[in-house]
Parts: sequence; structure tokens; C-alpha cells
Amino acid sequence: MSAAIDPVCGMEVQVAPEALTLLLDVASLPVATQAGRHSGAAEPGAAGSERFYFCGRGCLLDFQDEPDRFLDAGFQPSGM
Ligand SMILES: [Zn+2]
Repeated sequence: MSAAIDPVCGMEVQVAPEALTLLLDVASLPVATQAGRHSGAAEPGAAGSERFYFCGRGCLLDFQDEPDRFLDAGFQPSGM
């Protein structure tokens, strides 16, 4: 069992089939994302795409709205 970090609130999320996830084409974002800088797990076979995990639908929707804001190096998760 592995865990991922919710990029919106910083909570640890269990990586499970029922987890809320979003597959994002990070290559198309304005911010240049670097491996290891955030918690998204690389998706095998999907070049440029990364899967992110969320504790709840609210975080997923926030992230979907402004993914570049949460992937910015200066962003600090503040909520719980
Ligand atoms: Zn969250």
C-alpha cells in the first residue's frame, strides 16, 4: 500500500482504486513541473501526464480549476 500527498491541502491519501484521482497533462501547464518536486505519481505509458490523488471532491475540483497554482513551487498547502 502506498500513499500520495493531496497537492491542495497536503493530506496523505491512500493510493487505492476508489481514491479520487485526476490524470493531468502536466506538459501542457505553464509551470515547468519537475520530477520529485510535488507528490504526483508518474503514470506509466502516459508521457507528460501525471496522476494526482485527493482527500475529497472539494480538493479535486479546486485543483482542476487551477492546477498550475497548486503545482507552483511557492505554493504551501494550508488547509486541512
Ligand atoms: Zn485535500
